[in-house]
Amino acid sequence: MSTGSSKSTQAAVKAADRAHVFHPWSAQDLIDPLVVAGAEGSYFWDHDGNRYLDFSSQLVNTNIGHQHPKVVAAVQEQAARLCTVAPGFAVDVRSEAARLIARRTPGDLDKIFFTNGGAEAVENAVRMARLHTGRPKILSAYRSYHGATAAAINLTGDPRRWPSDTASAGVVHFWGPYLYRSHFHATSEVQECERALAHLEEVVAFEGPQTIAAIVLETVVGTAGILVPPAGYLAGVREICDRYGIVFVLDEVMAGFGRTGRWFAADHWGVVPDLLTFAKGVNSGYVPLGGVAISAEIAATFATRPYPGGLTYSGHPLACASAVATINAMADEGIVENAARIGADVLGPGLAELAERHPSVGEVRGTGVFWALELVRDRETREPLVPYNATGEANGPMAAFAAACREGGLWPFVNMNRTHVVPPCTITEAEAKEGLAVLDTALTVADAYTAA
Ligand code: PMP
Repeated sequence: MSTGSSKSTQAAVKAADRAHVFHPWSAQDLIDPLVVAGAEGSYFWDHDGNRYLDFSSQLVNTNIGHQHPKVVAAVQEQAARLCTVAPGFAVDVRSEAARLIARRTPGDLDKIFFTNGGAEAVENAVRMARLHTGRPKILSAYRSYHGATAAAINLTGDPRRWPSDTASAGVVHFWGPYLYRSHFHATSEVQECERALAHLEEVVAFEGPQTIAAIVLETVVGTAGILVPPAGYLAGVREICDRYGIVFVLDEVMAGFGRTGRWFAADHWGVVPDLLTFAKGVNSGYVPLGGVAISAEIAATFATRPYPGGLTYSGHPLACASAVATINAMADEGIVENAARIGADVLGPGLAELAERHPSVGEVRGTGVFWALELVRDRETREPLVPYNATGEANGPMAAFAAACREGGLWPFVNMNRTHVVPPCTITEAEAKEGLAVLDTALTVADAYTAA
């Protein structure tokens, strides 16, 4: 395993980055990005030989692990054969990617519109829903993330929306189920589910069903907290959509392609949306790719009337080649089953055991390789370890926890008062246990901020 060249390389890369790369979501003068030299499987490293167990899967996208040889080879072969073909042509690798995706998506979601990532997928799903229904409004949940482009950021129901909110995109937010901090004062999953559905139905009634094009949900909420819906919730939303002729959009950009231990999170509940957005895990982010899987009914809307939307790189051959190789490798190597097994046998029990010993852990929740530890100052009051949307000093306890993880050789995914445990779907039992041991040490740092 090569660790690259030298300290001087490390310094030169950092200097050029600081001089010329404008980083997303960042105050440019306050960041100190790690220089990455290479990666393999569940690990990545810098030029100094510091190695990290990737418990973040980068941005929760390297489901198949880093540098999977079959995916690397597929991209190389495609590049040598045919690099780029405009979306208006048909090409073997794009047809095959669409066929494989359509085969895995639930129900009759058999037509695939390709994008370069998640936000563009959401943008196009919203446009399709509006054109299909002729209605303007979109309902989406608080505590959600749908991307950072114009419509997607307006749908997003967390503080990342605030600085860019145009408040004019016809988006109405509602509360989804989250029993640990129930908006509905519920004390059981059944109650939370019933009350969340009644609330949604009331929002629909007061907004006027004839004005609502779509309800957009993350099947399992990702960056806003790994919120697994209670049994019956998604079926209930499907019913509301059917009753009022509303398009049901499930955003599986993060939850799809094995992350939850199924090909799609919707498979856990047997629910079929009208549109399903995907990205990330479809090809583990080796080449930018996303898309919308479209039902027969919505596809029919655009059978003889043109769909007014497109992208130069829609269905890019290199991206499609990496998707074909990724999906085939996931199937051949039992990678989705591995995610389910690691979740059920190692991460689930291991994280529950950590929660027993560490007073800073308020709740453990998740499935597959999609988990969150919600950290609190006080388990009784559930006061979060840091305030909502904490920055700077106020975020100190989470920053200290994250630093302890990195010192232990683990790269965590930390957001607000949570650490998400989102390693590749290919992670081995030994690697998962190595990560749990680092979390155990880092949680003692978080414990020091609790009332206990
Ligand atoms: N939807 C969800 C559920 C996501 O998690 C994300 C990305 N984290 C997006 C949409 C946006 O995807 P992208 O960053 O590829 O535009």
